[in-house]
Amino acid sequence: MHKKHIIIGAGQAGLSIAYYLDKNKEDFLILERDSVASTWKKQYDSLTLITPNPFISLAGKKFNTQNKFPTKNEVVNYLKDYSTTFADHIVLDTQVLEITQEEKLYRLTTNKGTYHATNVIVASGYNGDPFVPNMAKDLNDGIIQYHSSTYKSLDSLPEKTSRVAVIGSGNSGIAIAKELSKKHNVSLFEGNIKRFPRKILGIDIFWWVGSLGLFKVKRGTFLGDKLAKKLIPKGDPTYGYYPEKIAKKHNIKLFKRLVQCNGNILTDQNEDFTEIDAVVWATGFRTNYHKFIKLNVFDSNKQVQHFRGTTSYDGLYFLGLKWQSNISSFLIFGVKEDAKYIYKKLNSKRKKDICVTD
Ligand SMILES: Cc1cc2nc3c(=O)[nH]c(=O)nc-3n(C[C@H](O)[C@H](O)[C@H](O)COP(=O)(O)OP(=O)(O)OC[C@H]3O[C@@H](n4cnc5c(N)ncnc54)[C@H](O)[C@@H]3O)c2cc1C
Repeated sequence: MHKKHIIIGAGQAGLSIAYYLDKNKEDFLILERDSVASTWKKQYDSLTLITPNPFISLAGKKFNTQNKFPTKNEVVNYLKDYSTTFADHIVLDTQVLEITQEEKLYRLTTNKGTYHATNVIVASGYNGDPFVPNMAKDLNDGIIQYHSSTYKSLDSLPEKTSRVAVIGSGNSGIAIAKELSKKHNVSLFEGNIKRFPRKILGIDIFWWVGSLGLFKVKRGTFLGDKLAKKLIPKGDPTYGYYPEKIAKKHNIKLFKRLVQCNGNILTDQNEDFTEIDAVVWATGFRTNYHKFIKLNVFDSNKQVQHFRGTTSYDGLYFLGLKWQSNISSFLIFGVKEDAKYIYKKLNSKRKKDICVTD
């Protein structure tokens, strides 16, 4: 089957570009390996967002909630709702296994057959694969292990589990450690995370970031490139989460960075150690675009080489990259600006294509 535009992924990024294509009656399909908003669905049940509710809406539809920090289910429902106007264009349970070029088209091999497209917009998620450090294999077979993306709730662990370690003190690590501490003895191993206060002078930090114009600082400018270079390699910052305070309040034992696993013993960089029965790896993600995109768009670190989501390949675009154009690109409310930019690029390419055909 040939389509003018194929979008890979029905998360907020894929839906955002679909919104513009649908509004302009373009010929497009979204190929989604699972279901709409599946990445959000898979997160732990008690997840609430770090972005307050004025910072969530996508283009053309307001996010309505009474909660200051919405729950993941509210986000899932919002995205599902968002997708209904172009539901006919979404093909579920269809995983893109390989993208190659064939003459002037892109060839997408999926588990359900082959598609061809003039333009491909990869919106399959920057958090491609869960990352677990190699040392996890030095744990005994009997130790229960989850990644933060597979841990669901207190019910994920058997009743009798007593000693649980959470590795990583980012937003999900701290939230999961707090939850587990209701029932278990929890050890939290800290990562190197940037920490910001939730409020400054009583006002939410997101408001300050917006008011200071930081969401408008673009890649390709001196400040934008400097900030991106500094912040991309670090995990997402936390807001108002200070491990010492949380450990004290929730009776969690705090450790420094984990350096060794051995049987059922975890040791930190200060050589403090603890015995465990279970571990939750809140150690982040790695991109996986290079695993299925067989085109020369990656640098030596397997990162996408792009400018605001456009690549050196005519008709190949990305959406949902970290710092794609600015600091909010990876967040729900930030993706609409990038989607609009990519839509404009598609539109000017269309005019060029027509001229060439004429
Ligand atoms: C724990 C956690 C908390 C977060 N909290 C916030 C928050 O508070 N506020 C905020 O704004 N952002 C938050 N984010 C960040 C961000 O909003 C999410 O990561 C978001 O899911 C990214 O959207 P996306 O559309 O780019 O990718 P995804 O949501 O990952 O969507 C990609 C879609 O592509 C599909 N897919 C992947 N590969 C293929 C393939 N090969 N073929 C077909 N389909 C494929 C997937 O199934 C998925 O449905 C959080 C992220 C995490 C992990």
